Amino acid sequence: MAMDDDKGDETDPELARALVYVHQKLGVGLLQHQELSAHVYALTETLIAAGLIERDEVERRKDSARELMVESAKAHWEGVEFLTEETDKYEVTGPEIACAERIQLCRGACCRLEVHLSRQDLAEGVVRWDVGRPYTLRHREDGSCHHQDPTTKSCGVHGQRPLVCRQYDCRSDPRIWIDFEARVPNPKLEQLP
Ligand code: SF4
Ligand code: SF4
Repeated sequence: MAMDDDKGDETDPELARALVYVHQKLGVGLLQHQELSAHVYALTETLIAAGLIERDEVERRKDSARELMVESAKAHWEGVEFLTEETDKYEVTGPEIACAERIQLCRGACCRLEVHLSRQDLAEGVVRWDVGRPYTLRHREDGSCHHQDPTTKSCGVHGQRPLVCRQYDCRSDPRIWIDFEARVPNPKLEQLP
């Protein structure tokens, strides 16, 4: 059957990297799971055969352990992979800071900080996320946000910037300012995050 060579060129590179990431994680997880299962099975059978534990008791304890692990997995997934907040980012006004007047001092250092994306951010498909750390905002090698203009330090996705960017208030963040009102930035800005 003839191959359509153009199809490969249409593949979204980000999607391709994401799929590789997911497949690698799934492969590693499956191997670890199989290894662990084999150990637990062998250990359980050994203890039952030796008369040290009852099979019914093992099943009962397995059920309660499963319930605990499901709850724990839910909390971890919600808290780390996604921003749990469901606020509509377009409803957020955020702090009023005259960034243009301070950008020469702060060098847009707020855009070096780690940002977790919301489901709304992800659903829009505009803001890029880090394939190696889903779903955090993607940063460049130098630590700056993927969407920050390297020269002007302005945001390239300002109209659709993430919820966290809209809510963030640098005025009381000592990582950015020694004294916001006196316009004294933290001398270690370039080392962020
Ligand atoms: S650090 Fe503060 S003043 Fe500077 S660009 Fe960010 S929000 Fe604006
Ligand atoms: S998305 Fe925009 S506002 Fe948010 S960190 Fe990146 S450049 Fe800064």
